Amino acid sequence: MIKGLRIRYKIMLVVGLAVTIGLVATAYFYTQRQEQAVLAQNERTMQKLTESVSQGLQSVMLHGSADIASAYAERLKGVPEISDFRILRANGDEAFRDNKTINEVNGRRGEEAFMPRETEVRIPVLAADDPRLARVLQEKQPLPFYTFDTKGVKELTFLAPIENQSKCYKCHGRARPVRGVLKLTTSLSTVERDVLKVRHDSLIVLGLALMGTMLLTGYTMGRTVVAPIEAVTDAMSRVSGGALEQRVPIHGNDELGHMAMSFNQMTSELQDTYQGLQAEQDKLTTIIFGAGEGIVVTDSDGAIVLVNPAAERLIQKSRERIIKEGFDDLLDDPVSMRRWLADRENRGPISVLYKAQVLNVYVSTIHVEDGHVVGSACLLRDVTEEKRLEEELRRLSTTDGLTGLFNRRYLDDTLRREFERSRRTGAPLSVVMFDVDHFKKFNDTHGHDQGDRVLRAVATCLREALRKYDSPCRYGGEEFVGILPDTTMEAALAVAERLRQDVETMRVDGLQVTISLGVAGLPRLAAGSAEELIELADAALYQSKHQGRNRTTLATLSKGDAP
Ligand code: GH3
Ligand code: MG
Ligand code: MG
Repeated sequence: MIKGLRIRYKIMLVVGLAVTIGLVATAYFYTQRQEQAVLAQNERTMQKLTESVSQGLQSVMLHGSADIASAYAERLKGVPEISDFRILRANGDEAFRDNKTINEVNGRRGEEAFMPRETEVRIPVLAADDPRLARVLQEKQPLPFYTFDTKGVKELTFLAPIENQSKCYKCHGRARPVRGVLKLTTSLSTVERDVLKVRHDSLIVLGLALMGTMLLTGYTMGRTVVAPIEAVTDAMSRVSGGALEQRVPIHGNDELGHMAMSFNQMTSELQDTYQGLQAEQDKLTTIIFGAGEGIVVTDSDGAIVLVNPAAERLIQKSRERIIKEGFDDLLDDPVSMRRWLADRENRGPISVLYKAQVLNVYVSTIHVEDGHVVGSACLLRDVTEEKRLEEELRRLSTTDGLTGLFNRRYLDDTLRREFERSRRTGAPLSVVMFDVDHFKKFNDTHGHDQGDRVLRAVATCLREALRKYDSPCRYGGEEFVGILPDTTMEAALAVAERLRQDVETMRVDGLQVTISLGVAGLPRLAAGSAEELIELADAALYQSKHQGRNRTTLATLSKGDAP
């Protein structure tokens, strides 16, 4: 129970206990001493009283008035403080009650000095062998002792010896040194009242002292110890609640002062660190929220905790929906997402076509040093435009600017690849090569621009003459090549002838041109390389020129090798 108390009450409890024990012990000691002093004083008074009574009695006796001794004793009983007074013989019986002594005295004096009593009684007060009586007779010293009356009130009784002096011999002889004993009993009710009063007063003083001490201790402890500790603990609980600007007042240079100082220093450093972290976090937040890349992060349980605006834009879902659907469904492809996450080697981006965008996706599970997973992260970058530009660049690098046909580089690469494929598979491959007839003259006559327009029109004819899998290329100047995979020379010849006729019938701004063609192909011609195949077609073209132009010639390996 003590554990749950506030320190203020713990201190009060401990101090209260200690002070109570101390004060009670002091009070007990004090009252005991007081009581003893009161009793001792009472005994002394009683002793003096007994002595004076004894002397008074003796002088009465010596004046020969022994018969009034008993009346004297009766009078003394009437005194309020004296509850009993008796004169005893040495055997403990009350004296002056029979004629025994009177007879003795009269016999010793030889005269009727004292009149015998009419009635005699024997009143034993103490037993003859009472040890207290024996002690007084033997030691001839007064003896006090305490008893209780029938009501339980304490009484003090004095037994005082009545010594047999030389003046007494005349009547009593000298045989016994002690004639008898005085028994004087006083009630201690008054003394006990005094003692009770002392106790009562002590209790009041004790209570007041206790209250005073508690108040003083409580106040002093409260101000000097408890208040500073409570200030620190209250401030601490506010700090733990996030209010880092807490400072406590520093009183003095003691341990509590040091504690307060350390506390202030600690909170000040905490605040600095927190502000630093806050600033870093602000920067990071600004970066994350301003980034063009989409960022989505989960916690260790896989719940999404961060979605930046770019992610919303790229994924084309609201933040709430992304959070609700979960990390695996970010790109509507949970199977792939799980596979990417499981692949710990996965470093680079994965290009994904998502809602008409090309996205570079970086996915990783975030591990800390001990291998513990703290979450997952997904970074998304829109590379649609980059991919388009790349594609455009690739197209441009393989396209002829004037005609839009494939350029010479593409022609070389493609023909080499198709040549190898044909050799490997045995599939036929043909090339159709042609050159515009008398084009120099045409340019000279109609101008270079007109020449260009004609070249573009011829290029269109070539494109249209070919199939989907064929490649129409500009070889250079006004020379063109068509690559026709899986096409025999005979079939290629037919294509060439049709093309020739198309060009012949075509009119550009009312103007006409013709072309001369050469056709070469595998496997009919055993060309050793792509270049050689082109050379064979070129040779056939040359033949067409030579034979009058506007015609097609099939290539041959030698002059004698007829088609
Ligand atoms: P041939 O019938 O023997 O082929 O006669 P030709 O005049 O065509 O002879 P040649 O091949 O020597 O001349 C080619 C001409 O083609 C030269 C050049 O002016 C013209 N030419 C080449 N490239 C272009 C081009 O891109 N645009 C235009 N307008 N003319 C070109
Ligand atoms: Mg030419
Ligand atoms: Mg020409």
